[in-house]
Amino acid sequence: MQTYDLIVIGAGAAGLLGAGTAAESGLSVLLIEKMEKPARKIRISGKGRCNITNTKQHDDFLEHVYPDSRFLNSALRNFSNFQTIDFFNSLGLKTVVERGERVFPESGKAWDVADCLVNWAKKSGVEIICNTKVKSLNIENNKICSVNADCNNIEKIIEAKYFLITTGGISYPLTGSTGDGYNFAKQAGHTITPLQPSLVPLEIKNHDIQLNKLQLKNVSLSLWVDGEYVDEEFGEMEFNVKGVTGAITLRLSRNAVSAVVAKKQVELKVDLKPALSSEQLQNRILREMQTLQTIEPLLRKLLPQQIIATFAKKANIRQNNKITDLDIKKIIETLKEMTFEVSGFSNFNESIVTAGGVSLKEIDSRTMKSKITENLYFAGEVINLDANTGGYNLQIAFSTARLAAQNIIKK
Ligand SMILES: Cc1cc2nc3c(=O)[nH]c(=O)nc-3n(C[C@H](O)[C@H](O)[C@H](O)COP(=O)(O)OP(=O)(O)OC[C@H]3O[C@@H](n4cnc5c(N)ncnc54)[C@H](O)[C@@H]3O)c2cc1C
Repeated sequence: MQTYDLIVIGAGAAGLLGAGTAAESGLSVLLIEKMEKPARKIRISGKGRCNITNTKQHDDFLEHVYPDSRFLNSALRNFSNFQTIDFFNSLGLKTVVERGERVFPESGKAWDVADCLVNWAKKSGVEIICNTKVKSLNIENNKICSVNADCNNIEKIIEAKYFLITTGGISYPLTGSTGDGYNFAKQAGHTITPLQPSLVPLEIKNHDIQLNKLQLKNVSLSLWVDGEYVDEEFGEMEFNVKGVTGAITLRLSRNAVSAVVAKKQVELKVDLKPALSSEQLQNRILREMQTLQTIEPLLRKLLPQQIIATFAKKANIRQNNKITDLDIKKIIETLKEMTFEVSGFSNFNESIVTAGGVSLKEIDSRTMKSKITENLYFAGEVINLDANTGGYNLQIAFSTARLAAQNIIKK
């Protein structure tokens, strides 16, 4: 039976980059994937366009990484977002930089990114087997000697000198990331920190279904926990059947989810007119009122039709009434701070990433090597690292995988 130099478990972003890097330097590498095709998550990433990475400077990049960005420092220095861009460009995949310094393939197709990685890994000498699920590790004297795998209903024991776990989190499980890596890590003596959905839609108490599918652009959304201001994002948000989603909601969701889990009172306040101060709004309303009689046509001038009824309810004003000074005050207050109480969040099926994972304390951040089991490494989302939207999460996968593979090569 062949003993590989390295077995990589999971052919997603981290697995492909890690396996390819090791194979390029001459190691015999087996990459095991349980789905019928590698990189299913990359293929649906970035709404099918794949936001590969971004062009933020090092420190700026790290500000978007949780729960402890220092852990990523060495990996990002070793294989930075700029090196990722060069890497894909050198493989013939042209990239473009868009708003927010986000990097996408020029073709606009996430499939091109996935295929580029798969082809490169294969060319580098990686043996990829799909439809093969690793079920458990065989560990002797604190060292993994082999994995038990189910290959199309045939049980196999496959041996290697080193093992890299890149099984991802438990978000979007239909892509294959079902959390198996957490069990392997536990088997190898690791702690898994509590898992929570992140970059996830939030549910609103007594949600007004009328708002479903309404998109708000150029608004400011702030998160409040137990009456205290936490954070704020500017951009686009969207309502769904249960509450809110869209870029700025997702970015606030990590903190919101933690607060909901801790049973705290969580509120989202939308500033519908962030470019205007209350004073400027008042002047505008007074100008408009010179030709208008009632509240309703005024609201139509200020807001999208779909939100008017909910807005009037929240502001406690009657649309058909003649406008009073008190109404103007209430309208301005609600325009600057339309409050929604958060009652929950969507589950892992709808969360872009998993927060939590293999404890950072038990992995050497300079090598990605397990501090517990001798020949074990981790990379990607299985580690307790997650980040904002904007290409950060894929970059975490690439940087940690590159560092792990390079250290395995050194051994
Ligand atoms: C809808 C969506 C859109 C996203 N868009 C972006 C984006 O545009 N930019 C960005 O930076 N991030 C994005 N992300 C997040 C990003 O895709 C992930 O963080 C990243 O793919 C994680 O890479 P990974 O290699 O660690 O894990 P994954 O990509 O999840 O790969 C893990 C692989 O391991 C395999 N596997 C699991 N268990 C086993 C087992 N027992 N045996 C064999 N194989 C196994 C899985 O089938 C899977 O192929 C998005 C996520 C989602 C869900």
